[in-house]
Amino acid sequence: MSKETISRRSFVKGFAASFVSLAGLGVLNACGNNSSQPASSSTEAASAASTAAATAAATEAALEAANTAAKAAGMTFTPGTYEATAKGIASDVKVTMTFDETSIKDVKVDTSGETPEIGGKISDEVAQKILDGQTADIDAISGATVTSDAVKKAAADCIAQASGQEVSLSDDSAAATGADWLGTKPEIAAGDITEEVDTKLLIVGLGTGGWAATLAAADAGIDTLVIEKKETPTGIREDIGGIGSKWQKESIKKFPEFEIDKMEAVEDIVRYGTGYVDYNLIKLWANESGELVDWIGGILEDSGKYYMQHEGGVGDTRYKERDKAYATGHSPHKTEEYADDKDVTTSSVFTEYCEKKGNIKFKFSTAIVELVQDDSGKVTGVIAQDQTDNHYVKINAENVLMATGGYATNTDMMNALQPMTQEMKVQCRIGSTADGSGIKAMLWAGGLMDPIHESMMFNRCAVKPDETAGYKTTGEWFWFGEQPFLKVNLKGERFCNESGPYEFMLHSMEMQPGHTYCDIFDANNKQYTEQFQEVGCCRLWPFDNGAISNRDYDSCWQSNEELIEKGYIIKADTLEELAKGLNIPEDTFVETVKRYNELCAKGKDEDYGKAPHRLTPVDTAPFYGVRTVAWHLTTLDGIRINTNMQVIDKNGDPIEGLYATGDCSGGFFANNYPNLFTGLACGRTMTFARHAVNYIASL
Ligand SMILES: Cc1cc2nc3c(=O)[nH]c(=O)nc-3n(C[C@H](O)[C@H](O)[C@H](O)COP(=O)(O)OP(=O)(O)OC[C@H]3O[C@@H](n4cnc5c(N)ncnc54)[C@H](O)[C@@H]3O)c2cc1C
Repeated sequence: MSKETISRRSFVKGFAASFVSLAGLGVLNACGNNSSQPASSSTEAASAASTAAATAAATEAALEAANTAAKAAGMTFTPGTYEATAKGIASDVKVTMTFDETSIKDVKVDTSGETPEIGGKISDEVAQKILDGQTADIDAISGATVTSDAVKKAAADCIAQASGQEVSLSDDSAAATGADWLGTKPEIAAGDITEEVDTKLLIVGLGTGGWAATLAAADAGIDTLVIEKKETPTGIREDIGGIGSKWQKESIKKFPEFEIDKMEAVEDIVRYGTGYVDYNLIKLWANESGELVDWIGGILEDSGKYYMQHEGGVGDTRYKERDKAYATGHSPHKTEEYADDKDVTTSSVFTEYCEKKGNIKFKFSTAIVELVQDDSGKVTGVIAQDQTDNHYVKINAENVLMATGGYATNTDMMNALQPMTQEMKVQCRIGSTADGSGIKAMLWAGGLMDPIHESMMFNRCAVKPDETAGYKTTGEWFWFGEQPFLKVNLKGERFCNESGPYEFMLHSMEMQPGHTYCDIFDANNKQYTEQFQEVGCCRLWPFDNGAISNRDYDSCWQSNEELIEKGYIIKADTLEELAKGLNIPEDTFVETVKRYNELCAKGKDEDYGKAPHRLTPVDTAPFYGVRTVAWHLTTLDGIRINTNMQVIDKNGDPIEGLYATGDCSGGFFANNYPNLFTGLACGRTMTFARHAVNYIASL
């Protein structure tokens, strides 16, 4: 081996055999799973997460060995310079070490991406400690434990490489194997915890689920602390899905087709999840969501600042669509008096509600780092970090409810668990703080993760004509993308029934070259969007019962004009010109449109079975086309819970004191998001949050 720096990739390649041997022990398999490759295909591995946990444990053990070995006299190394990285608190910490045959000769540490006044300034100090001690097993620098741990890990990795041990923790090897996204629970020295707080109930995360839990705790009179990573709360979303609310019942009086058979709905959600779901959780949503909507809608309406609407629409009832729509959506809208008042939000209304009740405290800019457990495994609180000055706080709580959202912005987790989603989407710019930190904390505490890893994605993202999908590509919101216009692949061919749930289209797209398709529409698109009778947030026209849609056609078209300006949407006078603008083969495309128009004229889709009212021809200039890919909204798999929302372990037993709801919890979705149940994600999140708190109150 030369004295040159040995890259992580060449090291991984060189030690492929080592990985094979670890895989043979059942350590490195079953990762990188997605819907078509369920992690549970291994009977041994209960989930990819537990496999990752096992991997982390195995690598920890190997690191121990590496550390011990580095200290032992007589140890030999292959001379050279080695480098490794490990996750710190805000960046990848890098360690570069030079070895001769028997010792560490030089150490360079780069923590410059860490918090400047804390981890960012320890590089020289820790490098010297490693060199002086000839070991990675140095004492952590007080106040910078997480950064110190990352340095120790990366240094141990370098030692392992130099001594030929079968271990690697660096991040691109993790991406290659999908193994190291979990890491190990941070060790926070008692001396680093400078604040301690007691509460009966701790709610972690103040988004959709956190708010429903907080309001339920306010009603139940429980002494509650709510911590939220950001400086302000995340509000609730536009559509809340439920069955049996008073608003829905009112609509049904006039529109009997909106009536929902609960068992049929439950069966359909189970079918969407192809069985990888907890039947009882879905029944619980079906049974309690109407009451949830009445309760939360009541709080909003009583403020005088909001009113609720039931979104009454199930599509064009003349036709039996392949995928049935359920009128489950409910939306809060501001009353006329407050419509333009930017200070009035659902969060401001809820905050006032809690202030009146007097039993809720909020602590913002505070992120959970890990859960604290007693010897029996019961969760007794958390260690959190104040984001303003990075001090640690210990929060002792009788019960902890996690509502920290999913992991859409955690690239390591996404690469490892959802590689296909990474191929379909563009860079995640949803302003989300969903980084999987809550999920990781629950895994460290023994929680079990869903076996199928999947996401909610909109097929509403435009890329430029020379671009294709992929998480490194940037893109632009393209709300129109959901409309069931003609869609062609990059060869100019039609490839699916364009009418269906978001992910059906995107998964069909994943099977096409470049994981990208083109939406094609013409000058008559306005009348077609009305004729489509879309439901949920895809709808651009008032619902059948008069409820307003989330967005209307005119605002959407205005956005389209901007996309034309920016070169995303191509506008052309001829189909040939359109094909040229989109960089797709002209002849094939023209043939495809000809065939599609014939089917439209017949009123029967003999090729893909799209319903007649959605077969709209492309025959009137100007013609429009845009390359469309996925916009990632959130992840849908999380930590398994029982019907009291208690987090369960791999034996199905509850971890006492620990509850979860929303995107950090599991058992409800698999393989796709059934968006034809409008607002299902928020509906289950809020229903379960309230149920959990009511259960805690009853203890
Ligand atoms: C643009 C968009 C529109 C959507 N529209 C809808 C819709 O209309 N209807 C629907 O059903 N679904 C919708 N969804 C999905 C829906 O938002 C989620 O399923 C739902 O919000 C989940 O709620 P949650 O409480 O689990 O997570 P979130 O609402 O994301 O809240 C999680 C909170 O936890 C905080 N947090 C994260 N990590 C930590 C930590 N370590 N410590 C402390 N706090 C932390 C976050 O900052 C955040 O405030 C939409 C998603 C997006 C992105």
